[in-house]
Amino acid sequence: MVHTGFPERFRTEVGRPLEEGVSLGPYSNFRIGGRADFFFDAVTEEELVRAALFAREHGLRHRIIGGGYNLLFDDRGFRGLILRNAVRGIRLEAPSRIIATSGSTLEELMTFCLDQELGGLEFLVGIPGTIGGAVYGNAGAFDQNIGQVLQEARILTLSGEVVRIERDFFSFSYRNSALKKSGHILLEAVLEGYTRDRGHIREQQDEYCRKRENRHPPRDVACAGSYFKNPTLPSGEKVPAAFLLDQIGAKDMEVGAAAVYPGHANFIINQGRATSQQVRELAARLKSRVRERFGVDLEEEVIFLPAEP
Ligand SMILES: Cc1cc2nc3c(=O)[nH]c(=O)nc-3n(C[C@H](O)[C@H](O)[C@H](O)COP(=O)(O)OP(=O)(O)OC[C@H]3O[C@@H](n4cnc5c(N)ncnc54)[C@H](O)[C@@H]3O)c2cc1C
Repeated sequence: MVHTGFPERFRTEVGRPLEEGVSLGPYSNFRIGGRADFFFDAVTEEELVRAALFAREHGLRHRIIGGGYNLLFDDRGFRGLILRNAVRGIRLEAPSRIIATSGSTLEELMTFCLDQELGGLEFLVGIPGTIGGAVYGNAGAFDQNIGQVLQEARILTLSGEVVRIERDFFSFSYRNSALKKSGHILLEAVLEGYTRDRGHIREQQDEYCRKRENRHPPRDVACAGSYFKNPTLPSGEKVPAAFLLDQIGAKDMEVGAAAVYPGHANFIINQGRATSQQVRELAARLKSRVRERFGVDLEEEVIFLPAEP
């Protein structure tokens, strides 16, 4: 380890110990990944902020993660600190203003909306992961995304300040937000719903769930969701990546234990002991075939975290 003395200093400054040499496989839904030098599970906002500031002040490479549902860790692990966000809590501030800490899960948010009879967020049902991960990648489904319901947020900026910001700050677009470039950490999101009868919310959530079940692999399949973003063709038309992948025979392709899910050509799955190298090799082959056949460059939606910068 290069950072000798860090664990002791971390414990003093943050208040709880970090772990060393933690295997990352269990923290990504791909179930792939070597060991992180350091790992910390933050359960309060204070811990999360202190841990991030500690890493920044000491020049320790670090990365925040939520549920790991959109991530591919490196077989060689992560040189630095993985900061897992387990800061949970959702409350109502005004009749339809939802305040959610960034480590709360979308599942918890869906239950909250149902309990409080708040509609407008049903499209998020079934998307795994945390509020932080969802805002980072502007998660969504059925032509709606979280950026449309987010009003304000609190973030920890790169310079170490906790500030309140408005929606515009995020420049939301398809599976994209300003968090991807800025490196700021989302602490809390303010989401706007509207008063809706519980029965209607449940009906809407159930309908979306049924539609998702037809398209997506079951929960126990190791994957990180759609591997590629849906591309826009030179004509300006947006097409599902799965439509192009189907036509290049993706569903028959595999590399080692990494394979394309037979039910959906845009899902790469880990069939057992796949490595990140195999997943990336398979993705590279898929991209190359799509490029040859259609002249379209697919862009990864899944985020690969390399072991070294
Ligand atoms: C079966 C399946 C179905 C899926 N369906 C959909 C879908 O329909 N629509 C969709 O959009 N996605 C979908 N996904 C992808 C995934 O659920 C989303 O991208 C989700 O938002 C990831 O959240 P997470 O907490 O797991 O983020 P992680 O995977 O842990 O992290 C993703 C990125 O967010 C960053 N991040 C996490 N928390 C914060 C924070 N607090 N502040 C700043 N950055 C942060 C991380 O550094 C990382 O770069 C699916 C995934 C699976 C496995």
